[in-house]
This record gives sequence, C-alpha cells and structure tokens, in this order.
Amino acid sequence: MHQDMKKILVSEDQIIARSKELGKQISEDYTCAKELPLVVGLLKGSVPFLAELIKHIDLDVCIDFMDVSSYEGTESIGDVKVNMDLSSSVKGIPVLLVEDIIDTGRTLKEVTRLLKNKGASDVKVVSLLDKPDRRTVEIEADYVGFVVPNEFVVGFGLDYDQKYRTLPYVGVLKDEVYQ
Ligand code: 5GP
Ligand code: MG
Ligand code: MG
Repeated sequence: MHQDMKKILVSEDQIIARSKELGKQISEDYTCAKELPLVVGLLKGSVPFLAELIKHIDLDVCIDFMDVSSYEGTESIGDVKVNMDLSSSVKGIPVLLVEDIIDTGRTLKEVTRLLKNKGASDVKVVSLLDKPDRRTVEIEADYVGFVVPNEFVVGFGLDYDQKYRTLPYVGVLKDEVYQ
C-alpha cells in the first residue's frame, strides 16, 4: 500500500471482478438495443476504469473522450467547463458515458444535457464509484461499480491535486497528507 494511504476501500481484484460483471451486463443490454453506443470517457479520472471495462464489453464499440472540469481541491464548485470536446459527432448516436465517481451529480447532469443538446439519441452512464450521500441534483448512473461512503477517495484514476491516479486500488489518504 502507498505510504500516504490510510485505508483501501476497493481492491484491484474487486475492481477487475466488478468490471467484468458490468461489461457483461452492458454487452447484454446493448445487444437487445438497436444501436451500439459510443463509449465516452471523461478525462482524466475515468481512464483506468474505461480501459478495464472495455475489455469486457463484447461489442464493436468506438471510444471517445471529453475533458470537463467542475471540481477544485476537495470541494465541488460551480458549473461544468468543457476543456476538450469529443472528436466526432454524436448526432443520432447513443452514448455510454464512463465516469470515475458521482458525487454531487452536477458534472453528470451537465454533461448528459450537453450530449443530448449535441443530438445524442440516448445517454447512459456507467460509474466506477457512487457517493449517493453527497448528491445535490437528481441523477443516477445506469451502472455503478461500488457505492462508497462520504469520504474523499483517490486511486484507480481518482486524484488529489493530480496525484495518486496510477494506484491500482481506491482508498482514503492519511489526514496529514492534506496539511
Ligand atoms: P460531481 O459533479 O458529481 O460533484 O463531481 C464529480 C467529479 O468530482 C468526479 O468526476 C471527480 O473528478 C470529482 N470527485 C468527486 N468526489 C471525489 C472524490 O472523493 N475523490 C476524487 N479524487 N475526486 C472526486
Ligand atoms: Mg470525473
Ligand atoms: Mg480531480
């Protein structure tokens, strides 16, 4: 375990096993649907999860990325800003949005609205983590990896000041790291 970590909440094995289950479920659901989704990862936090998940999505999906920001330090503030947009059009196409964590839900609500404005025929969401206690807007993911308590978590894509994204597990930092 990294020296700055207080505890691990979700292990690497758990993430891999759950991604397998979610990939299977998503493959089944979109096999019944008429069209394949464009898988859209939100940079940078979703990258490790997206990479793990798509191994288990048994469909010829395309992937794309968007970079939005709504978060500074450990408090969620203000609206969503698009730093990097999609490279292709989503007009008439269903989108499967991949997120690292849903906290207040504001990012997701804004990005979902944005994609629908761009003409996406449907927007579904898969998030590695969910912190339902922190929700301030009404939005739920269609697929959730793990529900986590109301604590600031890092690892498997999630950062604190751009650090700890490369850890293969999700955990909580020691209090002194924030001082
Ligand atoms: P929301 O708009 O739902 O409040 O925030 C979503 C974004 O805030 C996430 O995509 C993530 O980047 C960041 N975020 C929310 N909670 C946490 C957390 O516990 N740890 C980290 N590292 N980022 C978080
Ligand atoms: Mg994110
Ligand atoms: Mg962040």
